[in-house]
Amino acid sequence: MERMALTTSVASTNGSSPTIETFDPRTGTSLGSVPDMGPAEVAAAVTRARKAWEPWRGLSFAERAEHLLAVRDLLLDRAETIISVVCAETGKLESEAVLTELMAVCETIDHYAKHGERMLRPEKVAPGTMLHKRAKRVFEPMGVIGVISPWNYPFNLCMTPVVSALFAGNAAVVKPSEVTPLVGVEIGRLFAEVGGHPALVQVVTGGGATGEALVRAGVQKVVFTGSVRTGRRVMAAASDTLTPVLLELGGKDPMIVCEDADLDRAVGGALWGSFSNSGQTCMAVERVYVHEARYQEFVDQVVTRTTAMRQGVGEGNDIGSMTFPAQLDIVERHLADAVDKGAKVLVGGKRVPGREGLWFEPTVVVDVDHSMDLMTQETFGPVLPIMKVRDDDEAVRLANDSVYGLNSSVWTTDLDKGERLAMRVQAGNVCINDTMVSYAVTGLPFGGVKESGIGRVHGAEGLREFSVSKSVLIDRFGLKREPFWFPLPKNLAGAMLRVLRLRYRRGAGNKLRGLAGRRR
Ligand code: NAD
Repeated sequence: MERMALTTSVASTNGSSPTIETFDPRTGTSLGSVPDMGPAEVAAAVTRARKAWEPWRGLSFAERAEHLLAVRDLLLDRAETIISVVCAETGKLESEAVLTELMAVCETIDHYAKHGERMLRPEKVAPGTMLHKRAKRVFEPMGVIGVISPWNYPFNLCMTPVVSALFAGNAAVVKPSEVTPLVGVEIGRLFAEVGGHPALVQVVTGGGATGEALVRAGVQKVVFTGSVRTGRRVMAAASDTLTPVLLELGGKDPMIVCEDADLDRAVGGALWGSFSNSGQTCMAVERVYVHEARYQEFVDQVVTRTTAMRQGVGEGNDIGSMTFPAQLDIVERHLADAVDKGAKVLVGGKRVPGREGLWFEPTVVVDVDHSMDLMTQETFGPVLPIMKVRDDDEAVRLANDSVYGLNSSVWTTDLDKGERLAMRVQAGNVCINDTMVSYAVTGLPFGGVKESGIGRVHGAEGLREFSVSKSVLIDRFGLKREPFWFPLPKNLAGAMLRVLRLRYRRGAGNKLRGLAGRRR
């Protein structure tokens, strides 16, 4: 059997089209190959999607929701197949696939089917001085949305932007990661076989060049989920055509453990936040700051409970394998740099001995500081670095000492203090006495600040991101002319000034404002 290459291989054979091979990271065995598509194939997919969009855009919200609920039913019928493809390409556990891939998508469809129509309803807008006008804004579909996704949650991170785009009346072309293309193929099958609008979601397979071709293919928006480095490239390419982008990028999420935290719960949260999906989560706990009064107790519990973790394939284990060989190299590099600079590894710190595939032990590191890559760059592996802090102020200062700002968490039994601290942390998302699960609440917008991204998925923003916000102004009375139309009256400036003073000067004399208030 073929063994896994350092990066997914692209084979161009004599005269035949190039392909990309995909591997099972748990064993290194080949799972097959998919076409490595070029710009012509990407353009053809965009054309097919645009054609399918024409009838779709004219449907009512209820009709679109009905179609997406049928997609969800089919997804549930095929759950076992999808889970097995997801686990084979990523190395994650079945339970992780059910919870964070399938359930998250089902919940998003549920949320928008129930609440999406309200989010996209036309909104009345106060006309201000223009009392003789009616103003509103409406949300219109954009067209074809390009979705480029990563390998860590290959099903969810393709499906979430796709279903959001569809609910808002768009079509989509998806470029799954070259590390997990078969999951993308399953997504293509779902939409093609559900019936009704078989071409609405197109899947193009390939590597970075295929992704760039999609950015340049004349789509109306690009949703990119991936690394900061690639995100910059996507934004640069999109700037050539002024194509709008939604960027969901990396993180280095801090966890702040206060003196009064419930340590049992905080330790459980740190382990799950750091080790689930082998730490390959954009909003994983990547660094922990613990108050000095509880530091030793926290570390001791983390060590005991990490040592007891079970790693392997299938149910009965706590974590699976890593997914991408290059990511494992980064984990090893960050650890070596940290150890070089004085860090101490208390548990793990190495590949699982004697095991083929991408198995890295859950790892606990102490004596860390911000001179180390492990505390400042995204590690994206099962590594939990813990740092002692004097007080909450120092914890917040260190948490904010980062180019990233995706998720974060604060752990304390004083919930008011927790909220105050949470407001001081620079991040798009924050959990108090929990971690990562804010993403599971579809009503909450999800996205980053600083280099963690631009734009939001989920919530009302997550639908409006895929809409043109169109402003509509309607003249109500059909007067023959407006006061400032040609020919301009001689006394216009003086008359306008009087209106200005009536309208904007504070105090009892503000008659016009009173009038506006009564009319609204
Ligand atoms: P990546 O940036 O290497 O690749 C992401 C996608 O971009 C892949 O499909 C890839 O083929 C494509 N791509 C590569 N070069 C391209 C180019 N020039 N133009 C267009 N597309 C191109 O990321 P990855 O390694 O697949 O995923 C891991 C990263 O994703 C981590 O940094 C993680 O934090 C981030 N991530 C962020 C979120 C979030 O919601 N914020 C979620 C998951 C993962």
